[in-house]
Amino acid sequence: MTKKAYIISAVILLSAFSGMMIANSGCNSSTAGSSEPVAVDSAVNEEAAESSTEKSTPTSPDNSIPEGASILMKCYPDFVKGYKEGKLQMSDGSTIVYDDGRQKSFVQKLDDADAEDMFAFKYDRKSWTPEYLQDAGRSRCELLFKKMYGASAQQVASKLINVKWFDANGNYGGASVKFTPVNGAAEHLKAVAAELSKMPQFKKYYKSEGTFYWRQVRGAKRQSAHSYGMTIDIGGNYKTYWLWSNAGASETAKIKYENKIPHEIVEVFEKHGFIWGGRWYHYDTMHFEYRPEILMANP
Ligand SMILES: [Zn+2]
Repeated sequence: MTKKAYIISAVILLSAFSGMMIANSGCNSSTAGSSEPVAVDSAVNEEAAESSTEKSTPTSPDNSIPEGASILMKCYPDFVKGYKEGKLQMSDGSTIVYDDGRQKSFVQKLDDADAEDMFAFKYDRKSWTPEYLQDAGRSRCELLFKKMYGASAQQVASKLINVKWFDANGNYGGASVKFTPVNGAAEHLKAVAAELSKMPQFKKYYKSEGTFYWRQVRGAKRQSAHSYGMTIDIGGNYKTYWLWSNAGASETAKIKYENKIPHEIVEVFEKHGFIWGGRWYHYDTMHFEYRPEILMANP
């Protein structure tokens, strides 16, 4: 073989190989999307999944998917590709334990949440008064959220884009906010803004009090939802917060509920995948967070 012929055949081999790689990764993502077993949402199957996780028998694959895992696959398809043997199968090839099997107190479910704990609370859309200790959405599996939105301030910030928002006078487009495009969150916020702009009677509530802010929850060691760029606070002049209305209350104390944010605004956000902090027993009524999985689990 001449030197030239050798180089040419090496190039052909290389390009065939990279073509295979591309075809293969495309194939992987389409299989994950289409041929995953359909989720079965019964308590019986959840129990079955739990017990098989404990035994961990890789030779007999567990085909039943806990309802929460199935919801995560539907809500975050770019990241959660499947569920196998007790673990969420992520698009980067890593896995996240779905249920760590530990019994947790109310506070532990917030401070040390696995993916399953995110579904431990009720998000009741039929009542405007939260039930005792029902804080759906305050539980976040940090590993999952960091994988999706970024694991550091820099990683999250590098993805943020501008979304047209309201200024202090409630004028649509008078200001913009930084939001993450990951999981379509920014697109959904755009849709919220467009809809709110058609409800000028509430414009005094629309000004943003902040979106992205990498920080830990006051008095706790877990990351605030604002760290991930998919959360917005509005209506700062009308906000109520459980701890300010109930000074000195512990996390499990019986507390008084207070809200000044119109329900019509809440319904617009919920329509586009956001949960409202005013539906938490430990309420934070200016807080809206992109959490489609909580809405899907609580229709
Ligand atoms: Zn907030």
